[in-house]
Amino acid sequence: MENRKTVITGGFVVTMDEVLKDLPQGAILIEGDQILKVASDRSEFDGIDAELIDAEGGIIIPGIIDTHRHTWMALFRAVSADMSLPEFLASTFYGWGSLVTAEVMGAATMVGALEAIDSGVTTIFDCCDCVNSPDHARAAVDSLRASGIRAIYAYGMQKFDFKPTAFKAHEQRLVDARALRSNELSNTDDLVGMGMLLTDFGILPFDETASEFRLGHELGLKLASHTGAASTSILLKGLRELNDRKLLRPGHLHIHCNGLTPPEWELIAKTDGKVSISPETEMQMGMGFPPFRTCLNHGISPSFSTDIVCVGSGDLFSQMRLGLQFQRCIDNDHVHKHVGRMPYEINLSVRDALTWATVNGADALGLAKSVGSITPGKKADITIVSGRRHFVPTCHPIGSVVLQSTAADVDTVIVDGVVRKRHGKLVGQDLERIRARANDALRYVQKEAEKLPNYNPTDIANWFEQAERMASVHFAQAYASS
Ligand SMILES: [Zn+2]
Repeated sequence: MENRKTVITGGFVVTMDEVLKDLPQGAILIEGDQILKVASDRSEFDGIDAELIDAEGGIIIPGIIDTHRHTWMALFRAVSADMSLPEFLASTFYGWGSLVTAEVMGAATMVGALEAIDSGVTTIFDCCDCVNSPDHARAAVDSLRASGIRAIYAYGMQKFDFKPTAFKAHEQRLVDARALRSNELSNTDDLVGMGMLLTDFGILPFDETASEFRLGHELGLKLASHTGAASTSILLKGLRELNDRKLLRPGHLHIHCNGLTPPEWELIAKTDGKVSISPETEMQMGMGFPPFRTCLNHGISPSFSTDIVCVGSGDLFSQMRLGLQFQRCIDNDHVHKHVGRMPYEINLSVRDALTWATVNGADALGLAKSVGSITPGKKADITIVSGRRHFVPTCHPIGSVVLQSTAADVDTVIVDGVVRKRHGKLVGQDLERIRARANDALRYVQKEAEKLPNYNPTDIANWFEQAERMASVHFAQAYASS
């Protein structure tokens, strides 16, 4: 493993490295799990004893980075395709989530991780906010490891009505997260690291939210929250309260952020927060506009995420395409409305979108030194996008990656120097066994879900408004308790 060398050539190399830039005839030399050298011409590597990967006229990009993906919902494809956020939360998240056993969690996490790799994603921030028992967390970590993906396993603190109840009190979740860090995820150099997804702000009494922050800080975890994800609601807010209690630290990953006010954006910028945007779920579910422009206006580097396949696609090409074109539409509309003429140029480029999905993703997850670009010394996480499906070569490689690619175009995926997809097919996995396990798990959940209540719009409204009243109480506690 240590001395195994591989040369990738034959494609247009988009390094996303500020110095190396694009190399139309480039080649990459990998040794073990690292990128050893990047050349502008493959002849530089002539004579080196290495395995050859011929990219065959494709486009070679850094492994794509998904900064917010709930693999535990990977079996529930499109179940919420017509749902608003409150409907999704009541029916799918808390409903189906209450039925997820450790076995379902293990099966789903494996499928979710492989689905990511299949679409050229090499790193995920896995938002596991359905830890119904300690076994659930271990099952998810085992699957992430078995999949071969680079991941930060974000232990979710969210509480579900799962039977039998494994955690009798909130404190027990904190104890379990600490145990996972001490035992299964103690090695910070592993392919699977540890983070924490905090309970959605407003759901818990403020001191319990504060205790999640304190534990995460103590254990050195990447902390994340669904921040301001419901535009006109007090739920998922509370940034001023959190900041007044000195809980917002640099690197905190704020997911969605669609409903934040200008002062709240200033708080994120001031506390060096990171932002993850999931255009597809945000646009469908009534969460608000994907805030790319707002990020840029505050000097914050946006990153992309798929969120859930309960709604849309499991690949980041879709998010890049939707996100970039959404923001261009809004920007163009601004010119029409406020300048009163045609826009003569497009301000955001496809390279910007690819930057958000690679370089910015690495930065958002605290992994900028190891992934996010094809740079010597970094980990060998590389995706090759093939042009074979098309009749003619592309005139603009990055344009084709961002605006014209799907998982079906991903020819090769390398994670940590290991080939995980080649010639368009996942390799190194018993796919039939994984498929059978996943189907058994899905059938179990679907059968149990028949017993769940059906909510009408009034039920959903009452439930959501009650949660908002509770959030008002909990945020006020920031100033009532020590
Ligand atoms: Zn999420």
